[in-house]
Amino acid sequence: MDTTHLSKFYKKSHIEKIDSLFLAGVISKKEKDRLMSQSLELDVDTGNNMIENYISNYSLPMGVALNYVIDKEELVVPMAIEEPSVIAASSFAAKIIGSGGGFKTTVSQRQMIGQVTLKNVDDIHAAVKNVEDAEQAIVERANEAYPSIVKRGGGARSVSVRILEDDTDSGIPTFLSVHVHIDTQEAMGANIVNTMMEGIAPYIEELTGGKALLRILTNYATECLATATCEIPVHKLKTGEFSGEEVRDRIIEATQVATIDPYRAVTHNKGIMNGVDAVIVATGNDWRAIEAGVHAYASRSGQYRSLTTWSKNDKGDLVGKLTLPLPIGTVGGSISIHPAAKLAHAILNHPKAHKLERIIVSVGLAQNFAAVRALVTEGIQKGHMGLHARSLAISAGAKGDHVQQVADILKKSKHKNLQRAKNILLNLLDEFDR
Ligand code: NDP
Repeated sequence: MDTTHLSKFYKKSHIEKIDSLFLAGVISKKEKDRLMSQSLELDVDTGNNMIENYISNYSLPMGVALNYVIDKEELVVPMAIEEPSVIAASSFAAKIIGSGGGFKTTVSQRQMIGQVTLKNVDDIHAAVKNVEDAEQAIVERANEAYPSIVKRGGGARSVSVRILEDDTDSGIPTFLSVHVHIDTQEAMGANIVNTMMEGIAPYIEELTGGKALLRILTNYATECLATATCEIPVHKLKTGEFSGEEVRDRIIEATQVATIDPYRAVTHNKGIMNGVDAVIVATGNDWRAIEAGVHAYASRSGQYRSLTTWSKNDKGDLVGKLTLPLPIGTVGGSISIHPAAKLAHAILNHPKAHKLERIIVSVGLAQNFAAVRALVTEGIQKGHMGLHARSLAISAGAKGDHVQQVADILKKSKHKNLQRAKNILLNLLDEFDR
């Protein structure tokens, strides 16, 4: 990638942005032409076949975050999101983090977990033993239920059992949950896993003497974890009246607050998901699945906590770390159907699922750094409202050049609200008419 073409990207016109992505080698001529002709919408036929009762498409803006260096590789990251400040913050954070060498990532094995959950198991301990003894047979039957994933090098790998007992006096009976650990290769795997669970359920009933109540994957993908770390030189943190050391310490303290206070943790983690979800959506992945799993992971200690940690190293530099369960796919679902998702994968140079996980967790860490840094220094409203001003201008009815003109005046106004934007626009239109 030749990043010289990407400098001052945000100042370029829409067409110049697309052209510079082509010149930098991020997109091909064909992709450039498609972007220029705006032909990334779902066509009616495809939409009609994707969901029930289809009536239209719902568009989100898609942009790119710049300056990412992940495991020493420079990357341009596609993001689909309506919140105005997210991509700017992401690019800003990636640049500062890049000055310290960028992101280093690790990923665990990529295994999804399927659950067959049973009720009415009379002898729960005998059932556990029978399932454990039959592990190999269960694995074989699961693989027979979805043979193509085995041919692709994946498939069921192992089995574990959990007794689900309620320790309150709620009257909830005991259930048995049989877990099958499955390598779904490049797919997120929901349908693969669900097919397997439905396939093995009668055999599990036979082994346990119980009745299968639920046969589905869990979105709590604890065996599909990705971790990003970064080290930011302390002098790069200096801003306004704050020294680098002050900013570093305030970021560490703010994260400590989010570690002990669920009220703060939820907002802290929402900032992480601003970046994560934007890449998940752009790449055609299932953001509900990721959201559900991530928040369960944030509660794994028994209390909902910050997903990131920030500390300082021996040199006094700021060290960040984020681990997320990221059962994403590079095939399956709508990924190979949606034209914008196909473009997003092309922008990332068609990464394998392992690599896409590394990218997404790095974006989450960058987004958290940007948000917390702004919060503990100048506050987030300055940057946020600067960009939000354009949305207010559009809501007020501004078109073309008037959008920026209204936004510029609004940014300097004491009250940055819709009524003020409407008044500014009326004044501009009056001047225009005179
Ligand atoms: P698919 O059902 O689309 O299955 C993956 C497809 O990709 C298969 O057709 C498979 O082909 C094909 N494929 C091609 N190459 C590979 C490869 N290298 N590795 C793996 N598969 C490959 O998708 P998933 O099973 O991933 O399911 C995801 C969908 O399920 C999402 O749309 C999600 O929203 C939805 N879903 C989610 C649920 C949840 O999260 N709780 C519940 C139910 C559905 P072949 O079959 O020939 O092997």
